[in-house]
Amino acid sequence: MNITPIGILGGTFDPIHNGHLRLAVEAQEQCGLSAVHFIPSGTPPHRNTPRASAADRLHMVQLAVHNNPAFLADQRESYRTDACYTADTLAELREELGMQQPLCLLLGSDAFALLHTWHTWQRLFELAHIVVMQRPGQPLGNAMANADPALLREYTARLAPSPQLLHESPCGHIAVLNIPALEISATDIRRRCTEGKNIHALVPDAVASFIQTHPYTLC
Ligand code: ATP
Repeated sequence: MNITPIGILGGTFDPIHNGHLRLAVEAQEQCGLSAVHFIPSGTPPHRNTPRASAADRLHMVQLAVHNNPAFLADQRESYRTDACYTADTLAELREELGMQQPLCLLLGSDAFALLHTWHTWQRLFELAHIVVMQRPGQPLGNAMANADPALLREYTARLAPSPQLLHESPCGHIAVLNIPALEISATDIRRRCTEGKNIHALVPDAVASFIQTHPYTLC
């Protein structure tokens, strides 16, 4: 079997920024992904509410990816108001795309080190590969130093020597990629908006224009 894998990048995207896009480009190039689904989270009650509405966060993702045919704004979580678990989202994608399609869940090293706290986390390996994106200054080794023993066992057993292995089965491997530093965060962009500062060069132009013309979105 050799089917080109699809990447999945979930996030709050409050707002989407160039750090997210660069992460997706690196994963696409280093793993040979045919597409990346950007999946903005919904707005469950009783959690930290994002500043922008789910509809505006989805719209900004659509604006950010519209000129890249390999990037998709995936709205399956956007209008959900209940807790939305990654395993359920992956199961839904798996049903749509078939049992043979390799899926790659893209995660930062900090998120991966806490994977054992996720709802039905071991199910994730039956649904997708996990691609850990290691940024300079955030090596996975440090994050795993005090890792949960069960997570460490899965990591050791599933680590792929090369991303090429992600093409050869639908799920179950862990690949670790190095990505360059891009010191951008949505938190900093929201702060800059509140202070009336420029956000060009941090987000795609279409997203900056949307925020400028809809200032209530983030400010
Ligand atoms: P916030 O500042 O509000 O916490 P964020 O900028 O980290 O948000 P999220 O929507 O939470 O954005 O991130 C989605 C995913 O993108 C996460 O896996 C996160 O690790 C990753 N990510 C965020 N910023 C960057 C960046 N500058 N470079 C690479 N990956 C990033």
